[in-house]
Amino acid sequence: MPVLRVALDLPLHRLFDYVIPEASTADIGLRVRVPFGRGEKIGVIAEVVDSSEWPLAQLKPAGEILRDVPPLPADFLRLCHFASGYYQAAFGEVVMQALPVGLKRLDPPNRRNARPGPLTAAIERPVLTDEQTVAVEAIDPTAGFSAHLLHGVTGSGKTEVYLRLIERALADGKQVLLLVPEINLTPQLEGRVRARFPETGVVSLHSELAEAARERNWRAAFAGEASIVLGTRLSVFTPMPRLGLIVVDEEHDSSFKQQDGMRYSARDVAVFRAHQLGIPILLGSATPSLESWANAQSKRYAMITLRERANPEATLPLVKLIDTRRMVIKDGVSEPLMAAIKLRLERGEQSLIFLNRRGYAPVLSCTACGWISRCTRCAANLVLHLADRRLRCHHCGFEGHVPRACPSCGNQDILPFGRGTQRLEGWLQEQFPEARVLRVDRDSVKSRKQWEAMLERIHGGEADILVGTQMLAKGHDFPRLTLVGALGADSALFAADWRSPERLFSQLMQVAGRAGRAELKGEVLIQTEYPTHPLFAALAAHDYPGFAASLLKEREQAGFPPYAFQAMLRAEAPDMADSIAFLKTAATLPVIQQHENVLIYDPVPMKLSRVANLDRGQLLVESGSRPVLQAFLPRWREAIEGIKSPSRLRWHIEVDPLEF
Ligand code: ADP
Ligand code: ZN
Ligand code: ZN
Repeated sequence: MPVLRVALDLPLHRLFDYVIPEASTADIGLRVRVPFGRGEKIGVIAEVVDSSEWPLAQLKPAGEILRDVPPLPADFLRLCHFASGYYQAAFGEVVMQALPVGLKRLDPPNRRNARPGPLTAAIERPVLTDEQTVAVEAIDPTAGFSAHLLHGVTGSGKTEVYLRLIERALADGKQVLLLVPEINLTPQLEGRVRARFPETGVVSLHSELAEAARERNWRAAFAGEASIVLGTRLSVFTPMPRLGLIVVDEEHDSSFKQQDGMRYSARDVAVFRAHQLGIPILLGSATPSLESWANAQSKRYAMITLRERANPEATLPLVKLIDTRRMVIKDGVSEPLMAAIKLRLERGEQSLIFLNRRGYAPVLSCTACGWISRCTRCAANLVLHLADRRLRCHHCGFEGHVPRACPSCGNQDILPFGRGTQRLEGWLQEQFPEARVLRVDRDSVKSRKQWEAMLERIHGGEADILVGTQMLAKGHDFPRLTLVGALGADSALFAADWRSPERLFSQLMQVAGRAGRAELKGEVLIQTEYPTHPLFAALAAHDYPGFAASLLKEREQAGFPPYAFQAMLRAEAPDMADSIAFLKTAATLPVIQQHENVLIYDPVPMKLSRVANLDRGQLLVESGSRPVLQAFLPRWREAIEGIKSPSRLRWHIEVDPLEF
């Protein structure tokens, strides 16, 4: 009797066997109902064989094979297999997380595929600049796998390059996968794609879509009816029968990295997928990740460069540093920056003040006894939000009211310490009562709808001064915006996390790129106490390559990625002692002796050592060779699975961790 080997959504690195009266290898990739425990589950048939390592008599019979959707193709299963092996994630979990919720239900709702949207007139295409022409021609869609890094300064017309390549792929009858960071931040891009390709069926896939819409879009992509899939990280797993091109926009963006559940990098999975299918992939950014930059330097990726802004009238903004060491600064904003804002108001232009800290103030404190607002569940402060008078933990979500007096000594004089976007907004409004000040952060913009409305107001000229976090840094064109001021940048200069300069540079470069996108010249003012820091010098010179070269040299000397390959074992438990003890055991497992050239560090508490009442520790493992690390990880993971640990302890392995 045939045996179905089924992938189930369980954190176990194995398939589950069931007998069935009749089945063939043509059923691989179909969903099947199977008994599990006392209930039933939906799984995906990974193999059809005629024997099992278990006695056939012990196997339960499978339930119905579901045929409402065609079998998931072999390349999809291979991609899941790769991700499972590379990221030490259970195969069944990888497969099932890639499917829309409706397909995993025992009582499936009845749904059809999405129909292509209404037709709109295709907008005209601009004549390509010389640099754009070279870029488009650099990619030969018939030459098999090739990976390209498109490094283009902000406003250089990277999107236009994507659109032309997409056009060509569609003309060849191919589908295109366009991966973007958080999609609610990029309605402009989606609008441009839809306007350019009105008849080809563009579908989007992101977490804000309602379940039914997401499933419809997924089905349309899988059926080959939608030619373009525009999606966030999870969409990298969407089965697409005619996939011929992958584009990753803003490839450096950290939202391509999933930080919980299955921890993977959608950008890296995308490169693997392109390789597997023998198709081109294009990674675009004004500030590429150092990993991609190093790959381009070593010629593993082909480099394509756009040095000039596409609009000949638009020039790169002038970046100036405001040395705040000898200045009296009122509420964080220096005199020169105030004067620059005033000038923009007089000219009827827009200013953007960038402060990457939301809320009113990062902490509330008592002047008498030194009490500060701490989260009782985390090793973190509670952030003061004055708009709705709440104290909030940005890590565990805890919320409380703002006390009238110090909870510790009763003193009435408790004060907000430091500043966030809400406080800055209020203060700027006081200073410029006639100006329209608009705050843009995750508190003022919670949904894609709100974000679209906000963009409309900014474009409609309804704001004079924008105050915002990095939400404002990405890919938007505000034609009347001529001034960008950056506050609080210094805190990231000397942060403990060695990736922090890379992130700071890219954030500042992106936010600076908002200024002077049209005819009006842009100016960027950065307040700092370290005006001679090389990071700022590179920024002022718009010299990403120089900055990347110096960072890479530092990383090479220190033996950090991309010159070393890392994985992190993390454990969390109510008690730090349990977390650390578990990690110590993992660090001394006998299997480690069998693997040379793998370096195991000492277990340490995480920087944010407690979140939601759980104490968190981590253990770094590293190797100078990716294959050595990849050979070690599965055997180590199996050994870790055998460690006896307290029942409330949870652990996971993260490969290529970004945060420490
Ligand atoms: P990037 O994605 O590199 O930041 P965009 O693709 O958004 O840049 O292009 C910046 C601006 O230049 C946009 O307003 C776009 O319409 C315009 N643009 C792009 N390519 C051209 C071109 N070839 N000719 C004229 N304008 C262009
Ligand atoms: Zn007090
Ligand atoms: Zn908390």
